[in-house]
Amino acid sequence: MKVPLHLIAALVLFSAPGKGQVPQVPPMPPPDPRYKADILLIVAHPDDETALGGYLAKVIVDDHKQVAVIYCNRGTGGGNTHGLEQNNAMGAIREIEARRATTSLGIQNIWFLDGRDTPGQDVFQSLQNWRHGVVLEQVVRLVRLTRPEVILTWLPNYVQGENHGDHQASGVIATQAFDMAGDPLVFPAQVAVPRERLDINNAAEGLTAWQPKKIYYFSDASHPVEGEGPEFDIAGISPSKKVPYYRLAIDLHTPHLTQGDVSEVGLEAKTTGDYTAFLNWMRTFRLIFGKSVVKATPRGDVFEGITPVPVPFTPPRGYQPRNYQGTTIEMGGAFAFYRDFWRAHNIEHLATTVKPEVGIAAGSYLQFPLILRNDTKDSVEVVLKPQIPRGWEVAAGAGRYLLAPGQIYPAQTILHAPVEQPAVAQITWLAESKGRSIGDCTMTVTLSEWTLPQ
Ligand SMILES: [Zn+2]
Repeated sequence: MKVPLHLIAALVLFSAPGKGQVPQVPPMPPPDPRYKADILLIVAHPDDETALGGYLAKVIVDDHKQVAVIYCNRGTGGGNTHGLEQNNAMGAIREIEARRATTSLGIQNIWFLDGRDTPGQDVFQSLQNWRHGVVLEQVVRLVRLTRPEVILTWLPNYVQGENHGDHQASGVIATQAFDMAGDPLVFPAQVAVPRERLDINNAAEGLTAWQPKKIYYFSDASHPVEGEGPEFDIAGISPSKKVPYYRLAIDLHTPHLTQGDVSEVGLEAKTTGDYTAFLNWMRTFRLIFGKSVVKATPRGDVFEGITPVPVPFTPPRGYQPRNYQGTTIEMGGAFAFYRDFWRAHNIEHLATTVKPEVGIAAGSYLQFPLILRNDTKDSVEVVLKPQIPRGWEVAAGAGRYLLAPGQIYPAQTILHAPVEQPAVAQITWLAESKGRSIGDCTMTVTLSEWTLPQ
């Protein structure tokens, strides 16, 4: 039975101590230690946790770290390799598959948020379908509840590979949450003190603002991604279990039966005892240093510089407009967003991890967004010309653009890719004004049989 606090107060009054005595007040409850995490993994889908399985096995089994996981959605948009169930029914299944997977490593605290699985390469489409602010609020809440020292998440960047828009979105939101959870003015009801903790209808959540100390990324690119990070060999032998770490992570894979590409490689390895394919796949994932608010080196251990002492809120640089002069051309769309996003969150070194690139299906259309700017006092004409290999065709975008003084023109160019080789092409847009070059933008495009829609 719950006893409202005002009744308790009345009882205290009636049993008030004698003159001169001061009553003892109840102790302040500390943050719940059951939810404290050393590492908070923030990903998009059930099965994304498998990417870091070998590393998670090490920190859990041998370093005795607490790991918690946030899945921003339930993976309702994929195909089902195990049964007929689809959409929300499959999401219910995938939640259980992820619970069985994480339980195999002893991870108990996992959450599934209300994002909507959005198969595609467009981060904006994912953020829009997830209702960005709703998921961000949920992630900030869970950062404050779990009080992680370190956040691990997908790389917020546009890459050639799976390049899942949901993966990018989880990296965007995780980075934002890293920089927001320590600010008590962000979602203030989460950190407001409940009026009467033992009474009903408390809107304030009673959490505490929390600044995580480090953030690392990993990528779904189909090639090695540049970027400094800690070296860790998942084939290393666990001192306590006497087997390689990747072997300890095998049952992160096997429960994901609705995602055959993930579960089968694990089941095959377990059945045959040949772990070669499994190990090679898992080795494609590595940690890339994002940033640290404590003294640490990018290549140092993930827990280098971390002590149990909380750190104060460390605000990021925030958005700052850049200074443009003359008439200019630059990449638009997600490429422009990430350029500003990295700077705003003090992770601008990520700009060097990947040059502009994309993978699309052979014979499909390439969207190549550009931004033309006129930062002069006169109207100018800009001519956009493609430089493309044989077999490619321009569907939209080439031509003359008239820009008023101060005008910004987002030019959405579209090109049709050939069906045949070569599989890798350099696509360049040249921009000229008054007969002189004002710049160019190049994207490397890899063609394959199938990709997620761009
Ligand atoms: Zn995924």
